Amino acid sequence: AAKAGGRSRHQFHSEDLSQRTRDRVTLEADLRRGLSERQFSVHFQPKVALADGRIVGAEALLRWHHPERGPVSPDVFIPVAEDSGLIVAIGAWVLRDACAAAADWNRARAPGDPPLRIAVNLSPRQFLNHDLIGTVTAALARTGCRAEWIELEITERLLLDERGQAGETLDGLRAMGLTLAIDDFGTGHSALSYLTKYPISTLKIDKSFMRDITTRSDQAGVVRAIISMGHSLQLDLVAEGVETKEQACFLREQGCALAQGWLFGRPMPRHDFTALLLARAAV
Ligand code: C2E
Ligand code: CA
Ligand code: CA
Ligand code: CA
Repeated sequence: AAKAGGRSRHQFHSEDLSQRTRDRVTLEADLRRGLSERQFSVHFQPKVALADGRIVGAEALLRWHHPERGPVSPDVFIPVAEDSGLIVAIGAWVLRDACAAAADWNRARAPGDPPLRIAVNLSPRQFLNHDLIGTVTAALARTGCRAEWIELEITERLLLDERGQAGETLDGLRAMGLTLAIDDFGTGHSALSYLTKYPISTLKIDKSFMRDITTRSDQAGVVRAIISMGHSLQLDLVAEGVETKEQACFLREQGCALAQGWLFGRPMPRHDFTALLLARAAV
């Protein structure tokens, strides 16, 4: 009986696996259809200066509203888009959308106000065997967006992958005037040599650190250390996932200049962000 039980457990397990494979294949087909049927949109989350709460930019975040599944989380569909290579087309589309928004907002800005910088997430796959510089150049030209208005968020994963020739591409993007940020900083690897090897401007302190900074001194210590390292390397620091006033207060006291999080605003559709900018400008 024990043996039979073992076998059926095994069978159940492999059925489970093939079910998962089927789910992935379906999701991939749905992604393709979603792209042609305009089921995607880009939302924007405000990035603020902790000193005075002013909006200094935004992060572009992809949203997918599936006709039957409803909203699907990027944490679910981005990995499928990466594995299938669809991320190259999707990523180019997000970039164009973000450039169009950046151009629109910055053209309407009062003279003297520093321009908003819009951050766009790039997956490592977009650097592989692909003319990323050409894609970026085309997106800027088509929308009338200046390179200085766009920041590209990349992960440590890209910089530590020896197979890629990301270095040359990153140098090229920086030379064009775009800035580069390390996303999810502190979660990946302990290697830090890449920080001086590549033309990085910004560190985004991962949101997993935020939860306990006001209650646990070890967590506070890690964040303090990241901030002080960022300062000595003359990098901009952005704290992500800031949800409470206490967290914002701690970060400001420690010298972190910029933040993103629900405390300051959720990711929102482009026209809502425009309305937010207008409301802020009026006061
Ligand atoms: P990420 O780049 O680290 O983006 C930050 C995530 O934190 C977003 O999740 C955002 O909605 C969420 N967030 C913002 N403020 C708070 C907060 O105060 N508390 C908490 N708990 N969460 C907050 P989202 O939009 O679900 O995106 C998940 C991930 O999907 C992103 O993580 C990014 O890695 C990926 N992603 C999203 N859009 C794109 C895209 O256009 N291209 C690529 N390659 N990846 C994308
Ligand atoms: Ca990001
Ligand atoms: Ca992040
Ligand atoms: Ca993340």
